[in-house]
Amino acid sequence: MNTSTLLSTNIKIALIAHDGKKAEMVSFILQHKEMLEGATLFATGTTGIHIEKGGFNVEKLLSGPLGGDAQIAAMVATGEIDLVIFFRDPLDKHPHEPDVQMLMRQCDVHNVPLATNPKSAFYIFKGIEKVFG
Ligand code: PGA
Repeated sequence: MNTSTLLSTNIKIALIAHDGKKAEMVSFILQHKEMLEGATLFATGTTGIHIEKGGFNVEKLLSGPLGGDAQIAAMVATGEIDLVIFFRDPLDKHPHEPDVQMLMRQCDVHNVPLATNPKSAFYIFKGIEKVFG
Protein backbone atom coordinates (compact mmCIF):
# COMPACT_ATOMS: atom_id res chain seq x y z
CA MET A 1 0.00 0.00 0.00
CA ASN A 2 1.25 3.45 -0.89
CA THR A 3 2.18 5.15 2.37
CA SER A 4 2.00 8.65 0.88
CA THR A 5 -1.71 8.34 0.13
CA LEU A 6 -2.70 10.96 2.64
CA LEU A 7 -0.52 13.46 0.79
CA SER A 8 -2.81 13.43 -2.25
CA THR A 9 -5.94 13.81 -0.13
CA ASN A 10 -4.58 16.99 1.55
CA ILE A 11 -6.32 15.88 4.69
CA LYS A 12 -6.69 18.28 7.60
CA ILE A 13 -6.06 16.56 10.90
CA ALA A 14 -6.56 17.91 14.42
CA LEU A 15 -4.25 16.39 17.04
CA ILE A 16 -4.94 16.63 20.76
CA ALA A 17 -3.45 14.71 23.65
CA HIS A 18 -4.06 15.03 27.34
CA ASP A 19 -0.88 15.39 29.39
CA GLY A 20 -0.63 11.68 30.23
CA LYS A 21 -0.90 10.84 26.52
CA LYS A 22 1.40 13.38 24.87
CA ALA A 23 4.35 10.98 24.59
CA GLU A 24 2.03 8.42 22.97
CA MET A 25 0.85 11.06 20.49
CA VAL A 26 4.39 11.98 19.44
CA SER A 27 5.31 8.32 19.17
CA PHE A 28 2.19 7.64 17.07
CA ILE A 29 2.79 10.43 14.58
CA LEU A 30 6.49 9.57 14.27
CA GLN A 31 5.44 6.02 13.39
CA HIS A 32 3.20 7.45 10.66
CA LYS A 33 5.47 10.26 9.50
CA GLU A 34 5.35 9.31 5.81
CA MET A 35 1.57 9.14 5.76
CA LEU A 36 1.32 12.54 7.40
CA GLU A 37 3.66 14.30 4.96
CA GLY A 38 0.87 15.83 2.88
CA ALA A 39 -1.49 16.44 5.74
CA THR A 40 -2.21 19.81 7.29
CA LEU A 41 -1.87 19.44 11.04
CA PHE A 42 -3.62 21.47 13.72
CA ALA A 43 -3.16 20.92 17.44
CA THR A 44 -4.05 22.32 20.80
CA GLY A 45 -1.24 24.46 22.20
CA THR A 46 0.85 22.17 24.35
CA THR A 47 0.27 19.13 22.19
CA GLY A 48 1.44 21.25 19.26
CA ILE A 49 4.69 22.14 21.00
CA HIS A 50 5.44 18.43 21.48
CA ILE A 51 4.53 17.73 17.85
CA GLU A 52 6.86 20.49 16.63
CA LYS A 53 9.68 19.00 18.70
CA GLY A 54 8.98 15.77 16.82
CA GLY A 55 9.85 17.62 13.59
CA PHE A 56 6.36 18.35 12.22
CA ASN A 57 4.82 21.56 10.97
CA VAL A 58 1.64 22.17 12.91
CA GLU A 59 -0.69 25.09 13.40
CA LYS A 60 -1.01 25.57 17.13
CA LEU A 61 -4.31 26.72 18.61
CA LEU A 62 -4.96 27.67 22.22
CA SER A 63 -4.07 25.21 24.94
CA GLY A 64 -6.94 22.81 25.61
CA PRO A 65 -7.96 24.16 29.03
CA LEU A 66 -7.91 27.71 27.59
CA GLY A 67 -10.21 26.92 24.67
CA GLY A 68 -8.18 24.89 22.18
CA ASP A 69 -10.63 22.00 22.15
CA ALA A 70 -13.46 24.49 21.62
CA GLN A 71 -11.56 26.03 18.70
CA ILE A 72 -11.16 22.61 17.12
CA ALA A 73 -14.84 21.87 17.74
CA ALA A 74 -15.70 25.08 15.86
CA MET A 75 -13.44 24.04 12.98
CA VAL A 76 -15.15 20.65 12.87
CA ALA A 77 -18.52 22.42 12.74
CA THR A 78 -17.43 24.62 9.83
CA GLY A 79 -15.92 21.76 7.82
CA GLU A 80 -12.27 22.74 8.29
CA ILE A 81 -11.19 19.45 9.88
CA ASP A 82 -11.38 16.00 8.24
CA LEU A 83 -10.16 13.86 11.12
CA VAL A 84 -9.68 14.33 14.86
CA ILE A 85 -7.12 12.29 16.77
CA PHE A 86 -7.65 12.93 20.44
CA PHE A 87 -5.70 10.75 22.83
CA ARG A 88 -7.71 11.22 26.00
CA ASP A 89 -6.46 10.23 29.43
CA PRO A 90 -9.34 8.37 31.07
CA LEU A 91 -7.45 8.16 34.37
CA ASP A 92 -7.21 11.90 34.98
CA LYS A 93 -9.61 14.77 35.62
CA HIS A 94 -9.79 17.69 33.20
CA PRO A 95 -11.17 21.16 34.00
CA HIS A 96 -12.24 21.57 30.38
CA GLU A 97 -14.26 18.33 30.20
CA PRO A 98 -17.31 20.27 28.86
CA ASP A 99 -15.20 21.43 25.89
CA VAL A 100 -14.01 17.86 25.33
CA GLN A 101 -17.62 16.63 25.29
CA MET A 102 -18.55 19.43 22.89
CA LEU A 103 -15.74 18.49 20.52
CA MET A 104 -16.78 14.84 20.48
CA ARG A 105 -20.42 15.85 19.96
CA GLN A 106 -19.48 18.08 17.03
CA CYS A 107 -17.60 15.17 15.44
CA ASP A 108 -20.78 13.11 15.69
CA VAL A 109 -23.01 15.95 14.48
CA HIS A 110 -20.85 16.47 11.38
CA ASN A 111 -19.80 12.85 10.81
CA VAL A 112 -16.11 13.60 11.28
CA PRO A 113 -13.98 10.58 12.23
CA LEU A 114 -12.62 10.71 15.76
CA ALA A 115 -9.94 8.42 17.21
CA THR A 116 -9.46 8.52 20.96
CA ASN A 117 -6.61 6.01 21.23
CA PRO A 118 -3.67 4.91 19.07
CA LYS A 119 -5.18 1.69 17.80
CA SER A 120 -8.34 3.48 16.61
CA ALA A 121 -6.18 6.08 14.88
CA PHE A 122 -4.13 3.31 13.25
CA TYR A 123 -7.24 1.64 11.85
CA ILE A 124 -8.62 4.97 10.60
CA PHE A 125 -5.34 5.57 8.75
CA LYS A 126 -5.57 2.06 7.29
CA GLY A 127 -9.15 2.80 6.23
CA ILE A 128 -8.16 6.07 4.58
CA GLU A 129 -5.43 4.21 2.68
CA LYS A 130 -7.93 1.63 1.51
CA VAL A 131 -10.64 4.09 0.50
CA PHE A 132 -8.43 6.76 -1.10
CA GLY A 133 -5.34 4.73 -2.05
P1 PGA B 1 -2.95 20.95 25.32
O1 PGA B 1 -4.50 20.65 25.43
O2 PGA B 1 -2.48 20.34 24.07
O3 PGA B 1 -2.81 22.43 25.32
O4 PGA B 1 -2.33 20.31 26.54
C1 PGA B 1 -4.97 19.34 25.28
C2 PGA B 1 -6.16 19.13 26.12
O5 PGA B 1 -5.99 18.88 27.31
O6 PGA B 1 -7.28 19.21 25.62
